[in-house]
Amino acid sequence: MQFYIMTLFPDMVMDGLNTSIIGRAVNKGLLSIEAVNIRDYAFNKHNSVDDYPYGGGAGMLMQAEPVYQCYKALAEKIENRPRVVYLSPQGKTFNQTMAEEFAKEEELVFLCGHYEGIDERVLEEIVTDYVSIGDYVLTGGELPAMIMVDAVSRLVPGVLHNDVSAEFESFQDNLLEYPQYSRPEIWHDKQVPPVLLSGHHVNIEKWRREQSVIRTAENRPDLLEKAELSEKEKELCEKILANQR
Ligand code: SAM
Repeated sequence: MQFYIMTLFPDMVMDGLNTSIIGRAVNKGLLSIEAVNIRDYAFNKHNSVDDYPYGGGAGMLMQAEPVYQCYKALAEKIENRPRVVYLSPQGKTFNQTMAEEFAKEEELVFLCGHYEGIDERVLEEIVTDYVSIGDYVLTGGELPAMIMVDAVSRLVPGVLHNDVSAEFESFQDNLLEYPQYSRPEIWHDKQVPPVLLSGHHVNIEKWRREQSVIRTAENRPDLLEKAELSEKEKELCEKILANQR
């Protein structure tokens, strides 16, 4: 899978993504990540890419032309019209379902805004998706782009050591993941739940499922609406929710 990130701060993006699991996947050729500097497409002698917003108001705005030229140079390298994701607090909130959908693409282009954002006219011409990472305002789209590249990359086959580890995780089936434990069996007087040491896979799965349901009811009851639950699980959730009221 190929990621292209249009940004004014390519080093920030590349430094952040070139480590650990994502960095190894790039070295193995499973992913390619290219940060493209929008400033290289500045059209004035000062290399500036921002200007005052018409109508007044605080801050500067990224101009349309450098962003458009940067996009055009990228689009020439990509066979089909790429999906262009503009990182914006005004977009749909990013979630695991969106990450799964993005992971089906062969190429993804991320456009990072800075200052007060980007001239609307170029957004209208090139952007296919407006995506936010949450209801707060950051200084730039670089961190959101890195978050999305990370979340999408780990769904690309081969990126995780064990492909199964991306399957049974939080938000799968609209439930949070169950608690996990590793060695030693006792730490700070806390014992690993005995069922996990029993070797009995059916019981382990039953315990994990129940823990997932409990965790979701306690921490993210909003997810339960879409989760498929048995009657017994629904009763368990109702009890937990009643205790929280
Ligand atoms: N003036 C804009 C507004 O009120 O909607 C906010 C601009 S913000 C200071 C600068 C850039 O940061 C945006 O263009 C966007 O690329 C990025 N950004 C800020 N918050 C974000 C968020 N929650 N999710 C995704 N991108 C964000």
